[in-house]
Amino acid sequence: MPSYPAAYQATQGSALDVDRDFYRRIAEGPREPVESLTVPIRSGRAWTVPAGHVFRIVTIEGPQVADLNIWNRHNPRERMWASRTRQLQQAHVSTFDRLWSNLPFLRPLVTITADSLADYGIDEHGGRVHDLLGTRCDPYVNRLLTGEDFDFHCHSNLVRAVAPYGLTEFDVHDVLNVFQVTGLNAEDRYFMKACPAKKGDFLEFFAEIDLLCALSTCPGGDLSVPLWGPEARDPIDVCRPLGVEVHKVDPALLKGWTPPPVAAYGGRHGMRLQTPPWEAEG
Ligand code: ZN
Repeated sequence: MPSYPAAYQATQGSALDVDRDFYRRIAEGPREPVESLTVPIRSGRAWTVPAGHVFRIVTIEGPQVADLNIWNRHNPRERMWASRTRQLQQAHVSTFDRLWSNLPFLRPLVTITADSLADYGIDEHGGRVHDLLGTRCDPYVNRLLTGEDFDFHCHSNLVRAVAPYGLTEFDVHDVLNVFQVTGLNAEDRYFMKACPAKKGDFLEFFAEIDLLCALSTCPGGDLSVPLWGPEARDPIDVCRPLGVEVHKVDPALLKGWTPPPVAAYGGRHGMRLQTPPWEAEG
């Protein structure tokens, strides 16, 4: 199929015009570890990342897909906007792509600095890795489709992970499906394939502002077991934990960098405050 030009194009100097040399230096430069944690199977964990640090999600035991949520650490109403990110970047993200926040903020929350699966490219079915097309698995759609209740879908894992930060189910939002290969088939329907990651694969992000992040280890594990049909079974044997590492970047590498401001639009939406006549005359 011939390619059609992308709708959203980066203008020089805009936030879409990423300074690749800067992020390359971050990826390759000195750093010191400040935190590491393990997300056990069928669980969720949350952690904070100061602006200017990097964090990395690692397959510590082998293939496993994960669902990532990101908020502004100081204002959880600002959070990742998967839909706009698909338009501004790509439906599957990799090195130098940014994950954008929702309205009325609209700024990059993170920039991807390294992706050990970048070479996956596009497979024979049109599948690509690190998916923004789909969202988290959840117990509501599970009940709808199977009639059964299950409490350890990614949505629930994320809900439990953020509870200690005072957030609830209403704060959990559309995800980045890390290490997950997906695409749209000839019928324009969403497909998922088995996770291509090996032990030690990683995806790394530079925090553009202070962040709260949460990650769920999907109960489907590496997605190698069919969810429905005669071969369907509980895939708990293909579930693996994931690692998260936070690193402080050498401050010398951040010279000249500042956290991005929110979008400059004034937010009036064509509305004007009206002064009641009795107040204006008084
Ligand atoms: Zn899931």
